[in-house]
Amino acid sequence: MNYQAMQLDARIRGNAEDWGADFYGVADLTPARDFILWQGGERLAQYPKAISIGIALLNPIVDQLPKRSDKAVAMEYRHHAYDTVNDLLDSIALRLSSSLQRQGYRALPIPASKRAVVDERVAAIFSHKLAAHLAGLGWIGKSCLLITPQAGPRVRWATVLTDAPLKTTGEAMAERCKECQKCVEICPQAAFTGRPFREDEPREARYDAKVCERYLKELEEKTGYGVCGLCLYVCPYGRR
Ligand code: SF4
Ligand code: SF4
Repeated sequence: MNYQAMQLDARIRGNAEDWGADFYGVADLTPARDFILWQGGERLAQYPKAISIGIALLNPIVDQLPKRSDKAVAMEYRHHAYDTVNDLLDSIALRLSSSLQRQGYRALPIPASKRAVVDERVAAIFSHKLAAHLAGLGWIGKSCLLITPQAGPRVRWATVLTDAPLKTTGEAMAERCKECQKCVEICPQAAFTGRPFREDEPREARYDAKVCERYLKELEEKTGYGVCGLCLYVCPYGRR
């Protein structure tokens, strides 16, 4: 890797961290090109690299989730662990993309997920988890969330697709759930089967996204705020 490319890597990582990203990685998307093409079309599949950025959620906010029937708890979660974090992620992704464009590269920011906990698992044009996984930032847990060794699933993600010659930061991390079943046991809708992630199995073998989505909609209609997130709360990698 030449000096100019190293400088570009250091500058983009430094910018992301200065602007508020707790997690930063670069993924080679080549192994996932067919999947990206199927999910988002050539518009997205044309980019060989992805920058994955994540912001760790605040523990005092997530730790309250078992009391989410309390309106104040649910509203705090929606505000600080969702709306505000998403805005910051989108802002960082846009600024990184603009910076890369000024340096002569193509870069497309993919918005942070728009629905707490589940939207990316229900329907998305691009999987932030896929980019973070391929960048070596974590593994896909039995909850189908991206689990980081440092903060478990208590992280929200955004992605910048690019043709910039950035160095990849790692490889897909092997799963470390082992015998743990905590997310499976706590889900009030029994949405998880408890099977560990396998690339050759469809997500439906592990997770019924529609059941979870329906539950959140019911909560929204009943209480005005559809907040669950118990699978995110309970993961021991986030609670230590
Ligand atoms: S624990 Fe809650 S958010 Fe997680 S899958 Fe189950 S219903 Fe959905
Ligand atoms: S709660 Fe346990 S099984 Fe679920 S994702 Fe976390 S480590 Fe894996």
